[in-house]
Amino acid sequence: MSLTQKILDVVGTKGLLTSEPDMAAYLCEWRDKYVGKALCVVLPKTTEEVSQVVKLCAEAKAPIVPQGGNTSLVGGSIPFDSGDEVVISLRRMNTVRYIDKQGGTLTVEAGCILANLQQTATDNGFMFPLRIGSEGSCQIGGNISTNAGGVQVLHYGNTREQVLGLEVVLPNGDIWDGLSSLRKDNTGYDLKQLFIGGEGTLGIITAAVVKLYPKPKYQQIAMIALPSVEAAIDFLGLARTMSGDQVTAIELIPRIAIDLVVKNVPNFSDPMPEKYDWQILVELSSSATEDLKSLMETILEEGMAQDIVLDAIIPGSEAQQNKLWALREEISGAQKPEGGSIKHDICVPIGKIPEFIETADAALQKIIPGFRPVTFGHIGDGNLHYNPLQPVGADPQEFLDKWESVSRIVHDIANDLRGSISAEHGIGRMKKNELSRYKSDVELRLMRQVKTAFDPQGIMNPGKMLPD
Ligand SMILES: Cc1cc2nc3c(=O)[nH]c(=O)nc-3n(C[C@H](O)[C@H](O)[C@H](O)COP(=O)(O)OP(=O)(O)OC[C@H]3O[C@@H](n4cnc5c(N)ncnc54)[C@H](O)[C@@H]3O)c2cc1C
Repeated sequence: MSLTQKILDVVGTKGLLTSEPDMAAYLCEWRDKYVGKALCVVLPKTTEEVSQVVKLCAEAKAPIVPQGGNTSLVGGSIPFDSGDEVVISLRRMNTVRYIDKQGGTLTVEAGCILANLQQTATDNGFMFPLRIGSEGSCQIGGNISTNAGGVQVLHYGNTREQVLGLEVVLPNGDIWDGLSSLRKDNTGYDLKQLFIGGEGTLGIITAAVVKLYPKPKYQQIAMIALPSVEAAIDFLGLARTMSGDQVTAIELIPRIAIDLVVKNVPNFSDPMPEKYDWQILVELSSSATEDLKSLMETILEEGMAQDIVLDAIIPGSEAQQNKLWALREEISGAQKPEGGSIKHDICVPIGKIPEFIETADAALQKIIPGFRPVTFGHIGDGNLHYNPLQPVGADPQEFLDKWESVSRIVHDIANDLRGSISAEHGIGRMKKNELSRYKSDVELRLMRQVKTAFDPQGIMNPGKMLPD
């Protein structure tokens, strides 16, 4: 019997796709940068089914590609061209299994879309703090496998900080039930940490216990113009101190980003009264302080007195606040009509951000005069989207052909500042060979030893994350 037939016996017709048109959506990602082929796409409904399918693949030594919402954009969730890989999509395993209101935890299957998880938390009087632009499509299993961040990492931490327990199907098909909801457990290696950010190379996450938080009753944002990026960092320190650490988000927005959203996305106008080079979007949250607007004003007054604030708008209504957040979320899409854009999700120590931006801009201007730096994002975590945009009127493909050389420069600069070449999307296949340049031999050897210990046959997402 063929492997596909054996898998069919486990998951039934609803759980197996084999024709090219049926599989197509699972074989390419959002930007169409990676398109692959597969033996079949499996859509299991239970952990037991995942386990049985993985056992069959292990027997046949067939490579497996775990897949979530396919939004990570570095090729990690897409099979290669060989056509012999088995894609296991978790999308049908999307149930919230249990909410512990006293303990403030939620047990959820890996295929649950992040926005649905957030809604379940809200419906039960809680909040799940992972907020990212792809939340309508990405799955919690994918978020855990990439250790996703987002706009509230500053206050609540990455996905790693939200996970208390995991259920994982290992590369030999065994099920590890690590669905603990304990907040303290000092009984040896914390195995779940290896699967968090493991990009599906060590096993398939089938369920997780995550933390829930009280939903803050009050929130206030402000769009603030500053004289420099240094001033943005100084403002963060000021706002954290003056608010008693109630800053839940701070996003850097350059002038070009506002201009591109206004130009390329319908129904947006410039929120700032004047054109300033740098803005930040700052969010304060609290359940105790109702008048956050006054608090924001007091902080802004102090910022002006210290010459680190030039101007600010404080939206009154929730609708106006949402519109400013929407502007921030549209920055990625607003670059598309402008032609080629080379993406980076680097991280550097927060105090090194100005030096990173200055050095990278200067280095790239030398090789691509007139390129447009679109530098925005989570300045409070040191994590920036550094997206060089092609010069106006240049040939998009000619610009994109420079992707590797541009990234080499950008990544070298981040690395020289003791930064990271990826703080969001992960390594996948896009950056896997870069790891040999930026990780030490000791670290790479340990990573390979971990991989071999979990997956001696090398069938779990092979060719991803670890350098060739
Ligand atoms: C518009 C947009 C905005 C974004 N904003 C952010 C942001 O603010 N912060 C951020 O961190 N990222 C962001 N991302 C990137 C992306 O959404 C995240 O990396 C997300 O966590 C990926 O989840 P996914 O379900 O789509 O995973 P996929 O892309 O399907 O998979 C990602 C990796 O995890 C593996 N995997 C998936 N599910 C499982 C599983 N159940 N078990 C084991 N391995 C698995 C895959 O094999 C792959 O290697 C953004 C992406 C887009 C398109």
